[in-house]
Amino acid sequence: ETSSGPLPIRRLHDSLINRIAAGEIIHRPASALKELLENSLDARATSIRVTVKDGGMKLLQIQDNGCGIRKADLPILAERFTTSKISSFSDLSRITTYGFRGEALASMSHVAHLSIVTKTKSDTCAWKAYYSDSLLVPPKPGLTPDPKPCAGNDGTIITIEDMFYNTPTRLSSLRSPSEEYARILDVMTKYAVHNPKISFLCKKAGSPSPEISTSPVSDVSQAIRLLYGHSIAKELLHVEITSENHRLDIDDPERWSAEAYCTSANFQGKKTVLILFINHRLVESSAIKKAIESVYSGILPKGAFPFIYLSIEIDPRSVDVNVHPTKREVLFLNEEAIIERISDAIQRNVVGQSQSRAFEYQT
Ligand code: ADP
Ligand code: MG
Repeated sequence: ETSSGPLPIRRLHDSLINRIAAGEIIHRPASALKELLENSLDARATSIRVTVKDGGMKLLQIQDNGCGIRKADLPILAERFTTSKISSFSDLSRITTYGFRGEALASMSHVAHLSIVTKTKSDTCAWKAYYSDSLLVPPKPGLTPDPKPCAGNDGTIITIEDMFYNTPTRLSSLRSPSEEYARILDVMTKYAVHNPKISFLCKKAGSPSPEISTSPVSDVSQAIRLLYGHSIAKELLHVEITSENHRLDIDDPERWSAEAYCTSANFQGKKTVLILFINHRLVESSAIKKAIESVYSGILPKGAFPFIYLSIEIDPRSVDVNVHPTKREVLFLNEEAIIERISDAIQRNVVGQSQSRAFEYQT
């Protein structure tokens, strides 16, 4: 009789544990790209170029002109929990970088082929390294695993190939290359709107013309015009919102401010486009989306939806970015009150603007 008693508990192999953990962070090419973009922004890059093959499943490469990685750090670069960004628990409450857990590159090395070319300003040449399962590996059998000198510019090129080659269920959960590419473009477009002083380029490998190409001279509204088109850009209202205590010159963790570009009552989109950044991190919030949709549902005809870019800055002490492995959802204190104040401000602006137009037509 084998079916009555419990089965024995066994420890999973490390390689399996690592692949499962990696899958929590890297769901698809677009989530890998988000981590890589954030690393380049953390490295203070002003130019970020992405090349993609087969929706990022075959190849996802990101080149930046940021600070580079010290050669001495390359051996532990793809280990879990190795980071240059925090060194103590108390640092967690004042995080200003995107990264802090040192898990992204490690995860990628467990579910894809990862290679890196990097050069700091003081290096005389660039260094190239290959990783698998967190460790340096030889580029070919018979060679040593140590980083090899090579030609290269200041900055870092990270190449991810054959994503999920060793996790077939993950691979089969992906959509078509064109859908995965659309998600990549979506993430990249949103970061490009939020970082108008940085030039972003995204293209398919071998293609001469990029799908995204921004120049660093623009501001947020110009970036929206370039990336989302004139019909949205010409209807944008600019709204600035602050907490009630914002003017008080005190060190209060409840101070916050927000900036929105939202479409007027004249714009009728097919679905809500909400680009939400909290402390410069691209996140999702169903609570905020719902609140904004309910503002517009009282203004727009049925079946018509707005475009909103919303950037909120909250004291890092009031935000917990550590609730979700991909950091896609964040928790913040006084969420309800903040959302209400923001929706009210948007409502006043959109309604006010449409009433002043109606008034213009009447006179
Ligand atoms: P985290 O961003 O949480 O620190 P990652 O695994 O994303 O963890 O990266 C590990 C470390 O690798 C970073 O702390 C940083 O020092 C370095 N790094 C990764 N990408 C870049 C890059 N594009 N430019 C410079 N350094 C980088
Ligand atoms: Mg990172």
